[in-house]
Amino acid sequence: MKFGGTSVANFEAITRAVFIVGGRLNQKPVVVVSALSKVTDLLYRMSDAAASQNREEASKLMDELRNRHVNLASELLEQSPALKDEAVAEINRICDKLESLVNAVCAVGELSDRNKAIIISNGELLSSTVICHTMNAKGIRTNFIDARQMMVTSNSYLKGEPVESEILKRVPEVISKAYEGMDAVITQGFIGSNLAGEQTVLGRGGSDYSASLIGMAIDAEKIEIWTDVDGVRSADPRKVENTKYLEKISFEEAAEMAHFGAKVLHPLTIEPAVKKNIPIYVLNSTNPSGKGTAILRSELIEDGVKSVSFKENIKVINIFSMKMINTSGFLRRVFEIFSENRVSVDLISTSEANISVTVDSSEKIDKTVAELSEFAEVLVDDDKSQVSVIGKNIVKLNGMLKRTFAPLKKCNVYMISQGASFVNISFVVDREELTEVVKDLHHHLFEQPEEMETF
Ligand code: ASP
Ligand code: MG
Repeated sequence: MKFGGTSVANFEAITRAVFIVGGRLNQKPVVVVSALSKVTDLLYRMSDAAASQNREEASKLMDELRNRHVNLASELLEQSPALKDEAVAEINRICDKLESLVNAVCAVGELSDRNKAIIISNGELLSSTVICHTMNAKGIRTNFIDARQMMVTSNSYLKGEPVESEILKRVPEVISKAYEGMDAVITQGFIGSNLAGEQTVLGRGGSDYSASLIGMAIDAEKIEIWTDVDGVRSADPRKVENTKYLEKISFEEAAEMAHFGAKVLHPLTIEPAVKKNIPIYVLNSTNPSGKGTAILRSELIEDGVKSVSFKENIKVINIFSMKMINTSGFLRRVFEIFSENRVSVDLISTSEANISVTVDSSEKIDKTVAELSEFAEVLVDDDKSQVSVIGKNIVKLNGMLKRTFAPLKKCNVYMISQGASFVNISFVVDREELTEVVKDLHHHLFEQPEEMETF
């Protein structure tokens, strides 16, 4: 059971989360928590402040962090003075240690990734401390597990990649030992350590990923991702009206949706679950009796369009070279450069003398572009958006391309990608057109399906 930041944001949220866990003790839950809402952002700001030697800002943030957790623990544990004292002492110990590191960074004005990982890992350490004590105060005998003993990652401090063999070995051992004589165990999402025992984190939003790695390692019956929405919807309700709630989707659909814009799940969450065929449920902690969305193996899911997803801000890189005509190995050369520079490519389409790829706007591509420019003409288009129509076997549905593109009468489509999977048709439009495109497309695909058939 993984609880995200908003599901443990404050007194009410934690009280609800603990109540939800309490209702599932017969299923032997492993509770995985994120930092309290906004705390990881605060820790990033704290590390920036320290790196730029802004002591005043760093210590302001430090006070904010400490006070929020101490106050919350005092409120939640009011009825259990001994647990309250213990929790507050632990919070202070964590904060003191963090404070000395932040002071040291302030003094030298230089922040390594390694120290940054230590700083930003504290959100989860603090939240799990508060919640563990609260669970015990409510009569749920809960053991605290430090995720760094078992969530082993590569040496990349800020974007550690799980070392599966170690995780598979350590997680079941640590958890079953911690469970002895207990009703539940709690651990942190997002954080881990490398083989040398140094602090790492899995990257922003990584708690979902932690939960599914743990689920995989212990052969969990299911993985529950508790958030603040009723499940996965057919489009982002902030942009599109009349979105549909999806009762169940396939692993493949969920993976495509997470990769291509839907903010409900961390994109890597699906993979570990698929390996052991463990269903994932996306549930709403403010409406715990709701059904949520079940993410299941494909055979249990109907064909058809499930979602219109989008990535609002992407770049398109056009690579053009006459040398590409009638030669082999050109693509390899191009993608080697992307790979060496660790730039992750989303969509690709090629013609005889041209390759177009899309990358997230956050990717740093200057070096890649310079290297590509040594043997090809390279053009980078900013301010583009990517739209994906996602659903099982849509590629096989009659007239699907017509249905997808018919509503886009007026706008330019720069790239189209289809065929890589049967579940995704993606294309690129100008960013300023995005809102209208996804609205129209969703309306046509979900609200006027009959009309569409007659196209
Ligand atoms: N606390 C981390 C973050 O905000 C991890 C997570 O919440 O999933 O990125
Ligand atoms: Mg999250």
